[in-house]
Amino acid sequence: MALRKIVTKEDPILKKKCRTIEKFDEKLHMLLDDMAETMYAADGLGLAAPQVGMLKRVVVMDVGDGLLELVNPEIIEKEGEQCAEEGCLSIPGEYYETIRPQKVKVKAQDRFGEWHEYEGEDLKARCFCHELDHLDGILFIERLNPNPKPAEEQDDVK
Ligand code: ZN
Repeated sequence: MALRKIVTKEDPILKKKCRTIEKFDEKLHMLLDDMAETMYAADGLGLAAPQVGMLKRVVVMDVGDGLLELVNPEIIEKEGEQCAEEGCLSIPGEYYETIRPQKVKVKAQDRFGEWHEYEGEDLKARCFCHELDHLDGILFIERLNPNPKPAEEQDDVK
């Protein structure tokens, strides 16, 4: 396994649509292993392939309940709405309120091509949406809350 370099928001690769994975081979397994290692080393909750310079529909995620490897993932159901601060390993040090569904259902293939379904609420739903957006060239700063509370109001602890 090897650490890969995480690209930052100036890199045009983050604006591109990723290609579907058709071969579930050794190369894909190596990419998944490297992405997981890179995500853990950077203390991230998720990492999408374009963030390491690969235009492929591959995501790794771990919100504290174990590693998920998502190949060709798609959101198949969305429910509700939530707004919370979000960050991105490709936009270091910037956190903004982002609007996401409260709950999502995702289908994805594993490293061998088998399809599975996953559900996530709250943080996990946000993470699914954030990482899957990367596969279509969308960054979270394009989904910000249009009416964020002023900072003074947030700090008010009456
Ligand atoms: Zn991100």
